[in-house]
Amino acid sequence: MPDCIFCSIAQGQTSSFKVYEDDAVIAFLDINPGNKGQVVVAPKKHVQGIHELSPAETGSVFKAVRLIVLGISQSLGCEGVNVIYSLGARAGQRSDHMIIYLIPRYEDDKVIIHWEPKRAEEAELKSTAQAVKDAIKTIPELVSAPKPKVVEEKSVEEPEEVVEEEPRVPDY
Ligand SMILES: [Zn+2]
Repeated sequence: MPDCIFCSIAQGQTSSFKVYEDDAVIAFLDINPGNKGQVVVAPKKHVQGIHELSPAETGSVFKAVRLIVLGISQSLGCEGVNVIYSLGARAGQRSDHMIIYLIPRYEDDKVIIHWEPKRAEEAELKSTAQAVKDAIKTIPELVSAPKPKVVEEKSVEEPEEVVEEEPRVPDY
């Protein structure tokens, strides 16, 4: 992806003021920050969004986010941090490489994050929550997570599946 600035930074072809790097993630200072110390966190792999990352890759990204949030909080004297992730142009995503902004917040700064809260009806909350829960249950990683009995019933030809993780969606 030679045309992608974030791939170029991840590969060291474009210089940056790095604050964190591991095998899967790079983080560097935004050269056009809303506030001093604004950091851009990106998976090194060129993906458009979180839907293209595996659970493990997603974990790597958010472990890095945690470290950097703590790092900027301790080093910059900010009073808060916004973690901003946008998926899709409609949500404000401007690059085709997934990035997360970490914005240190200071008293009387000029960063504005805003929406107009609207009162939701209970019926809508109920049906929306159900729709989202139902959808989460169909996410491949969860569906493919072996259920103990099913694994035992599998034919002897197949090697035993390794249980990597339990489904994390509570069944209300
Ligand atoms: Zn890229």
